[in-house]
Amino acid sequence: VAEYLVSIGLETHVQLATKSKIWCGCANVFTHEPNTAVCPVCLGYPGTMPVLNREAVKRTVMTGLMLGCDIQRMSKFDRKSYFYPDMPKNYQISQYDKPLCLGGAVSIAVEDEVKTIRVHRIHLEEDVAKNNHFEQSSGVDFNRAGTPLMEIVSEPDMASADEAFAYLTALKQMLVYGGISPCNLEEGNMRCDINCSVRPAGQAELGTKTEIKNMNTFKGVHRSLTYEIKRQIDVLKNGGTVVQETRRWDDAAGVTRSMRSKEDAHDYRYFPEPDLMPVVLSEAEIAAWQAELPELPAARRQRFVSEYALPEYDAGVLVAEKAVADYFEQVAQACGNPKAASNWMMTEMLRALSESEQSIEAVAITPAALAQLIQLVDQKVINMTGAKQVFARLFERGGDPKAIVDEEGLAQVSDAGALDGWVETAIAGNPKSVEDYRGGKKAALQFLMGQVMRASQGKANPGMVLEALRQKLDG
Ligand SMILES: [Zn+2]
Repeated sequence: VAEYLVSIGLETHVQLATKSKIWCGCANVFTHEPNTAVCPVCLGYPGTMPVLNREAVKRTVMTGLMLGCDIQRMSKFDRKSYFYPDMPKNYQISQYDKPLCLGGAVSIAVEDEVKTIRVHRIHLEEDVAKNNHFEQSSGVDFNRAGTPLMEIVSEPDMASADEAFAYLTALKQMLVYGGISPCNLEEGNMRCDINCSVRPAGQAELGTKTEIKNMNTFKGVHRSLTYEIKRQIDVLKNGGTVVQETRRWDDAAGVTRSMRSKEDAHDYRYFPEPDLMPVVLSEAEIAAWQAELPELPAARRQRFVSEYALPEYDAGVLVAEKAVADYFEQVAQACGNPKAASNWMMTEMLRALSESEQSIEAVAITPAALAQLIQLVDQKVINMTGAKQVFARLFERGGDPKAIVDEEGLAQVSDAGALDGWVETAIAGNPKSVEDYRGGKKAALQFLMGQVMRASQGKANPGMVLEALRQKLDG
């Protein structure tokens, strides 16, 4: 039994993949050329007026629908006052007491145990600019300013670093499936702040929490929590008290460091944004957005099991990443052999992707080419050994499977005369194996089979070889 209980809550910021920014017509794009997607509104010039991008509201509400939140028929925007070196207005437009979504939950599985993490709220706000620090100076890049930013606030329901990791993974999967955000961590699409507290087992009230700000990798979240949980437990064990404060994760050193003591919410002096009307949503609008929701991972997994007769495990692996699931479906439908499509995806494709550290969107082999390759195997034009060689080439350079088979002379040999010659040679050259087989050692047949395959340079039709061997040895 654990001596201490851990409570973790996450505030996850997600950039929404809208075409334009939240208050202006500037393109919402990730670019390395600073200050190229800006206008007076997102530069925060005095006297400019924000105009709400309805698409940002839609994506936030769709997220709320996916997480089972109560969608608020009326919500509003507020100014969060603060000194922002990366926001000349010195306030951020956010939502304070009337967010778009309340409640909801994310289902996670850690070591086969399913747990529900409650969501407290989801609100919409603007992202701020980005400070870049150079050796002698600093620069502000406003391309990011005004990017629609959704904040998903969880309840402190996670009890370990593993659960926090699983929560972020599940959330990302859903957001990608829903087309809400690409959740590209390298581009800063998904960042989070962590709240963490520990308390002695048996104490009902949560312990004093610390906050770890601006985490931008899931691995960082896991490592910083592992450190912070142990730090807090050590403080309590030594008779000390945990101080409520904001801490910073030092990734290189692998420790959290005190940044500042926690300022209270009222320090932000929130007040209603006078330049924006409250957001009023009609039942019809919410229903239309609900109807637009795509199939989610759990439903897709079930459909893969029923429609393609895949094992639960395979279906789970295939749907984990939306792009992989999409690719599989295209292959399965084009080749008409879903089980073979699944096998190729689960083994060759996922292995090749992980070895080459590529995403499936970037590979040279098209779903149509993989489907054709599967058909060549089904039609016994090539055997699996040859097919794997063709796959390796397709994966590397793309191309047409049939042309590669012809070019590399990989077509399977099914000619009885040629096969007979190889089989005779294998039997004549391995009298011990022949004797073993006839003496009841069935494994000896596999050895002889291997000899024939080698003699044929992997091109012999394995089914026919097996038959010919049996005929000669048993007959
Ligand atoms: Zn702009």
